[in-house]
Amino acid sequence: MTGLVPAGPDLLDRLRSALGPEALRPPEPRYLEEPRGRFAGAAAAVLLPRSTAEVAEAVRLCAAARVGIVPYAGGTGLVGGQLATAGPLPVVLSVERMTRIRDLDLVDGVLIAEAGCVLADVQAAARAAGRLFPLSLASEGSARIGGLLATNAGGITVLRYGNTRDLCLGIEAVLADGTVIEELRRVRKDNMGYDLRHLLIGSEGTLGLITAASLRLFPAPAETATAWVAVTSPTAALDLLATLREELGAAISAFELMHVQGLAFVAEALPQVPLPPDAPADWRVLVEAGDAAGAHVGDRLEAGLGRALDSGLAADALIAQSEAQRAVFWGVREAIPEANRRIGAISSHDIALPPSRLAEFLARGGALLAGVDAGLRVNCFGHLGDGNLHYNVFPPAGQGRAAFDAVRGAVTEAVHDLAHALGGSIAAEHGLGRLKTADLERYADPGKLAAMRAIKRALDPAGILNPGAVLARW
Ligand SMILES: Cc1cc2nc3c(=O)[nH]c(=O)nc-3n(C[C@H](O)[C@H](O)[C@H](O)COP(=O)(O)OP(=O)(O)OC[C@H]3O[C@@H](n4cnc5c(N)ncnc54)[C@H](O)[C@@H]3O)c2cc1C
Repeated sequence: MTGLVPAGPDLLDRLRSALGPEALRPPEPRYLEEPRGRFAGAAAAVLLPRSTAEVAEAVRLCAAARVGIVPYAGGTGLVGGQLATAGPLPVVLSVERMTRIRDLDLVDGVLIAEAGCVLADVQAAARAAGRLFPLSLASEGSARIGGLLATNAGGITVLRYGNTRDLCLGIEAVLADGTVIEELRRVRKDNMGYDLRHLLIGSEGTLGLITAASLRLFPAPAETATAWVAVTSPTAALDLLATLREELGAAISAFELMHVQGLAFVAEALPQVPLPPDAPADWRVLVEAGDAAGAHVGDRLEAGLGRALDSGLAADALIAQSEAQRAVFWGVREAIPEANRRIGAISSHDIALPPSRLAEFLARGGALLAGVDAGLRVNCFGHLGDGNLHYNVFPPAGQGRAAFDAVRGAVTEAVHDLAHALGGSIAAEHGLGRLKTADLERYADPGKLAAMRAIKRALDPAGILNPGAVLARW
């Protein structure tokens, strides 16, 4: 990051006359805050372009003035990528007025959405056409396509359908010099050179601004079955997944693990959220499967769970008998992040592990935290089918997190060191943002880091795109 200057009145005037007065606003608080309240941002203005051409024009003007641009979509990112916390005052560029679904083609199985489309609206458009857009996460009512692609979001259906990257066939984007890449492809096979789509996906706004994407549609399952299962350990949960796969194969779309600590936090912080009946085990699994009409998905789930109960793998199991009961199961899972926020974590870790190392991670992680304070509470939950855990550490009951400010850094480092040593990732689905730039330097393969820096220098030599995110130095 070199030679950037703060956004001044001259640039703002030029942007105003190029994009129109309504496309430039003072930054309201929501653009400078993030869901966990860990970062406070600063910006000279918020730009709200309506089209790709306007994005390109805004980028050209900022590039000429050497002013940083912070891309912003739904503002639900959890690693501070969407707000600038240091450096010369940038502008925020929000895609929230680019909300057109440009096309939905059933033959191609493609939906073309602009970057500002809210995920829930894309899901609804697919549903209305009798198809499924499977990306699903608790922030789907606010997160937008541009942000989801920029972070390569995961969520609850990765097990079956893959990450956001796997759901995208093509991309339209604006590079740091204002060049527009129009690659809204509809084909599954395209080996015409470097795949810039995959370079931009997951780059968190540091290599280009995503303005639209062609997204894959899937057949909507006609039958869905959902169960809430009590298990004694994550290892038992993995064995349960293997057993259920024998009955259901690829029909399993979600396999979420929760420790009972998370249920206790929901009961404490969100007492209005209904909980399923208690069960005699420390872990819960929320499993969902979907299949075509006549595939008897409910019977197959019941058969798999019957085997798991008979063999002692599961301590208890409830199959949702109605949409309302299914909503109760999912309501608990989706309430956990908000309950965590209200209780107040000391540190939160979005990690992925090879499933074979999960039990070792939990045992060694528990011992490590006990060495800090025997009363620390861990709320571990996540997308077990992908080996993705949210391993969040909380103060002992009755104590505030401020008392642990001094050890927060050491706790995070120890958890990340352990996950890395076991072959895992310290940035599983939320990205690096500004929170984990030092982690990238600590854990990334040196060759990869050098290649990342070379790519940044080549595509954004002045460093105007999301300065300070992902790569602190290049
Ligand atoms: C309650 C809750 C639950 C969540 N659950 C999950 C989950 O299960 N799985 C998961 O993966 N994440 C989850 N998240 C995190 C978050 O929702 C995702 O990271 C999401 O992808 C962010 O999308 P957004 O539109 O809000 O992006 P923003 O927060 O606005 O931006 C995220 C990043 O993308 C960049 N960016 C935004 N728009 C563009 C663009 N058009 N072009 C280039 N870069 C851009 C930003 O600069 C920033 O670096 C959750 C968050 C919350 C609050």
